[in-house]
Amino acid sequence: MNCNIGVIRGDGIGPEIITEALKVLDTIAGRYDHNFNYDEILMGGCSIDATGVPLTDGAIAQAKAADAVLMGSIGGDAKTSTWYKLPADKRPEAGLLGLRKALNLFANLRPAYLFPQLKAACPLREDIIGDGFDMLIMRELTGGLYFGKRETTEVDGKRLAYDTLTYNEDEIRRIAIKSFEIAMMRNKKVTSVDKANVLDSSRLWRAVVEEVATDFPQVTLEHMLVDNAAMQLVKDPKQFDVILTENMFGDILSDEASMVTGSIGMLSSASFNESKFGLYEPSGGSAPDIAGKGIANPIATILSAGMMLRYSFGLELEADVIEKAINNVLDRGFRTIDIMPMPGEDTSNITQVGTVDMGDLICRAIDTF
Ligand code: NAD
Repeated sequence: MNCNIGVIRGDGIGPEIITEALKVLDTIAGRYDHNFNYDEILMGGCSIDATGVPLTDGAIAQAKAADAVLMGSIGGDAKTSTWYKLPADKRPEAGLLGLRKALNLFANLRPAYLFPQLKAACPLREDIIGDGFDMLIMRELTGGLYFGKRETTEVDGKRLAYDTLTYNEDEIRRIAIKSFEIAMMRNKKVTSVDKANVLDSSRLWRAVVEEVATDFPQVTLEHMLVDNAAMQLVKDPKQFDVILTENMFGDILSDEASMVTGSIGMLSSASFNESKFGLYEPSGGSAPDIAGKGIANPIATILSAGMMLRYSFGLELEADVIEKAINNVLDRGFRTIDIMPMPGEDTSNITQVGTVDMGDLICRAIDTF
């Protein structure tokens, strides 16, 4: 198969983790006779340095021309980086928001799966973890508070700022449909998270999700208020299958879910529009605190590349092989620093490795299947 993949290395650890993901894709291409062509796209802080803006029209055109885009992460340390002295719409994150909007990527999928080998890294009690959990957070990406009208002004001599949270029924319906479709392939349960006791936008959200649910009678729908969802994620994460929620709630809950899995370095993510195109990226950020040290965990980015093979290119077997290879490497005790056992745990079969070694180990494991 010939696939044109846009590659955004980005900032911080982005280039390091992308290098490992491309190595894995090349291994898969060699083994299963595919042609993966990479088109490097500048976005984020590195684009500001090179062009003065976080996202150029040319970069958008490159992304649109690709079959899928694989991305590292963008952004820097907000306290020290000069990028954050720029107005908000010129900062690295504006590039990502602009790209999502330009590609109409309205649905973000973030699996929160507890790898059995990393059970000990999960901060929850053994009785809460049980046999582990496997949920998917479906976050609306192009509407809500992050895209609403906002202003910082002065009223009666006092500084005042506001942001607005707006959704129309079409925006809610299309993400609800995606969530129910995915739930049909899984455990057939959707938990729609909102704040319907306070917000009008949430009351519309709830009403539209209920309308969509009538087309999916096999799927169980439940509604949960966002404050309760934040508690339930640490009290009983096993109860969730697909969590459907709006942009800001999803931003916060998906980070919480990432922490209960043990490491943000293990979580992949995909964003979709209505076609097969997807933007695939790790859930974590650019981790400026560890950038350049060669210790970042590349597994989330490698899993994102696997999701790209599965959802954009239909290469199920190849995606399975990547996941099997990761499990094999973890079974053999190899860990990056972020997923090392906690102090006091048994480390006799554990070997700490850096970013490049982890990538190499996964490639070698692929070659053994
Ligand atoms: P972060 O996810 O970058 O880092 C949070 C913590 O997780 C840090 O201690 C970091 O070292 C660790 N971490 C993250 N990924 C890791 C990995 N692969 N391996 C090992 N450890 C890892 O979040 P932050 O510090 O809040 O944000 C840093 C920058 O990233 C900011 O500029 C932010 O805007 C940006 N950001 C970008 C994206 C994106 O590109 N999609 C997403 C979130 C944050």
